[in-house]
Amino acid sequence: MSKIAVYPGSFDPITNGHIDIINRSRCLFDKLIIAVVHNPNKEALFGVEERIDMIKAIIKGHKNIEIDSFSGLLIDYVRQKGAYVIIRGLRAISDFEYEFQMALMNRKLNEEVETVFMMPHEKYIYVSSRIIKEVFQLGGSISDLVPEIVERELKKKFSILK
Ligand code: ADP
Repeated sequence: MSKIAVYPGSFDPITNGHIDIINRSRCLFDKLIIAVVHNPNKEALFGVEERIDMIKAIIKGHKNIEIDSFSGLLIDYVRQKGAYVIIRGLRAISDFEYEFQMALMNRKLNEEVETVFMMPHEKYIYVSSRIIKEVFQLGGSISDLVPEIVERELKKKFSILK
């Protein structure tokens, strides 16, 4: 039986922190599904298709990675994909409480599914999509923290908005 893991998130946009988690977890499973959450209630800078296109451009060439989107309950999506593992990244203690709550709620909904927490390289522990967008918008350099394509798309997005 092949081991499939799902890495869900907003990825608005994908950062080097996410990519670090992807590279660590893809070595542990036969297949890793990067699943972009489509949540109409959460305002996002990039549309789901834009986020997927960026991830595809960055991740191309890895046969054991699938890029997809989902809406609704994560646990339903995970089972629909034949997976039993959810990957989440832990940066600092501040992530812990929310992640702990989500992991236990998901276990309550389906106790066959495990959440696995991965730690990024320490150089990415302060990186979040939110801080990237804020710093970029104020003119700060983010080039070590996101792939080139993300920086280009951010430039386009903010000059369109201005
Ligand atoms: P969400 O809106 O679900 O938090 P994100 O796209 O912000 O989605 O993050 C998806 C997952 O990746 C979360 O588990 C988050 O903690 C993790 N993550 C985000 N940035 C980093 C980072 N720099 N290092 C490690 N994990 C990260």
